[in-house]
Amino acid sequence: EFDVLVVGGGPAGAAAAIYAARKGIRTGVIAERFGGQVMDTLAIENFISVTATEGPKLAMALEEHVKEYEVDIMNLQRAAAVIPQQHGFEVRLENGASLQARSVILATGARWREMNVPGEKEFRGKGVAYCPHCDGPLFKGKRVAVIGGGNSGVEAAIDLAGIVAHVTLLEFADTLRADAVLQRKLASLPNVTVITNAQTTEVTGDAKVNGLVYKDRVSGESQRLALEGIFVQIGLLPNTDFVKDTVERTKFGEIVVDARGQTSVPGLFAAGDCTTVPFKQIVIAMGDGAKASLAAFDHLIRESVP
Ligand code: FAD
Repeated sequence: EFDVLVVGGGPAGAAAAIYAARKGIRTGVIAERFGGQVMDTLAIENFISVTATEGPKLAMALEEHVKEYEVDIMNLQRAAAVIPQQHGFEVRLENGASLQARSVILATGARWREMNVPGEKEFRGKGVAYCPHCDGPLFKGKRVAVIGGGNSGVEAAIDLAGIVAHVTLLEFADTLRADAVLQRKLASLPNVTVITNAQTTEVTGDAKVNGLVYKDRVSGESQRLALEGIFVQIGLLPNTDFVKDTVERTKFGEIVVDARGQTSVPGLFAAGDCTTVPFKQIVIAMGDGAKASLAAFDHLIRESVP
């Protein structure tokens, strides 16, 4: 039986595991893929105190740091369900195995919704980006598109307009869905163009992105835009379906947590991108994992001895 079982091996899960292990309690990590989203990241320039690094390098460092401690790492394993019991939890794995833990920290992260058009995967990290806080500065003085006119798309367009030369925001529907105050701010910016009824159909490029093709949904005609970057902002999908019957989630699928990472189920904590924590970033996920782990420890020392 584990005292703390962490589900997820990204920045949040790694931090949670280290903080738990340093308390001398039995700690385990189940990870479908250790490193998480960091493995898909090229340049990282906002991991504070590290001027610049690369995703796989940081992922390796995360794993090495966790391995400094007595942590049972179960990599390439997917959790299928978390079942609260009288004392603690049963965590079922997809391979049929089952683990017992007095407390569980969910740190399963999220993934960006993709457009699923030709060129998107090919040019990921070569002009196709998903995170304006991370990659915005790479496009300083260049032309970019933002795909999606919801709050995140419009926020991204406003943010990028201060860095890049020009932003074209493309929205599939006939109106933007972002809050009015954001739309007003967007409309006040001189270097932003908004195109509605636009369905992006292709990302084009050679070594890097050089443009995109969209279908005008009113005329049915295809149009081409020349640009250097494309920020896809059509949704972030938390990896939380496997706990949908266990724990309270928002309509977006984020696990609802309080300031200590406590979920709606006592003894069940969550941290990082899979939760309601605002802003999805490495440095935030790590802090969040540490916090949830300390809260789990706090929970364990208050629990009645069985
Ligand atoms: P994740 O990193 O998503 O890790 C989740 C972990 O849970 C993984 O190990 C996954 O395999 C595992 N998992 C999921 N489901 C299950 C399951 N059912 N069972 C077991 N394990 C499971 N942030 C920055 O700060 N700077 C950047 O420059 C930056 N660039 C980015 C570039 C890209 C392309 C992407 C996609 C993201 C970028 N981010 C960046 C965001 C950053 O990567 C995330 O905020 C951060 O990784 C979140 O950490 P996490 O631990 O919460 O989740």
